[in-house]
Amino acid sequence: MTAKIIDGKRISAEVKARAAEEVKKLNEMGISVGLAVVIVGNNPASRIYVNNKKKACETCGIISEEYALPEETTEDELLELVHSLNNKKEINGILVQLPLPKQIDEKKIIAAISPKKDVDAFHAINVGNIMIGDFDFLPCTPSGCMELIQSTGVSIEGKRCVVVGRSNIVGKPMAMLLLHKNGTVTICHSKTKELGEICRTADILVAAVGRPKMITGDMIKPGAVVIDVGMNRLPNGKLCGDVDFDSASQVAGYITPVPGGVGPMTIATLMQNTVTAAKIQNM
Ligand code: NDP
Repeated sequence: MTAKIIDGKRISAEVKARAAEEVKKLNEMGISVGLAVVIVGNNPASRIYVNNKKKACETCGIISEEYALPEETTEDELLELVHSLNNKKEINGILVQLPLPKQIDEKKIIAAISPKKDVDAFHAINVGNIMIGDFDFLPCTPSGCMELIQSTGVSIEGKRCVVVGRSNIVGKPMAMLLLHKNGTVTICHSKTKELGEICRTADILVAAVGRPKMITGDMIKPGAVVIDVGMNRLPNGKLCGDVDFDSASQVAGYITPVPGGVGPMTIATLMQNTVTAAKIQNM
């Protein structure tokens, strides 16, 4: 293996330690920091994410309130909860775990969250603010990826960056953050032709697709920084990324593992965003 491993666990611990320091300072000023985590239904993956988020809150001294609603919850019931959390002073951040059951329109729920408490940065106002480069929160996963890239010491400015995937929560904001740092960015998606050729031009390659091991070593430029956002559950129960780690790590300069790469950074950034929310609301 030639690639250096980007240790998301270690870097996320540093981000959480910084968040914990800030929480302590806010507490000393009489300001508490609170996150509401809302989960609807019994999706096992969502349950794991929510538990991890609660654990991270404990580590950082953030008060977490969990609202676990049954699968058959109506849209109106969830909207009512969101409205009450918008008005609850002790709650600085609201996270509604996605996906939601079919009878609930995710867009309506996201639109109902107060932009100042939208620690996922999914609300159209926050998305727009990110677009114009004037924001309070960055979406957790792309922001975590940026920290991982920055940890390598490789400068983004002037580099060719390729993002595979164009979802609203990962691919699109990721591309925008790379652009803000003066990368030359290409976004690929399911209709992209010659994906391998485009990926091979990337000094920085971010894979956010949801297809196990689809980015193979022959698609990677020697020495590239490779960030694997994918979290795919294999039939044997193991987690696996969108990048074929074994072949990619022979070619890349730096690579994130799955698990232990982007996943922990997403949660650490959520902690950071909750602290930012508390500051905006109190100072
Ligand atoms: P989405 O399903 O919303 O988006 C996937 C994107 O990949 C789409 O833009 C799609 O293109 C594109 N795509 C699909 N097939 C191909 C293909 N053959 N070639 C090129 N592009 C393709 O997924 P998310 O963005 O929500 O998540 C992506 C992955 O990241 C998943 O594995 C998810 O579990 C993981 N994830 C991990 C997180 C973490 O904390 N580590 C957080 C969030 C997500 P098109 O738009 O044309 O359909």
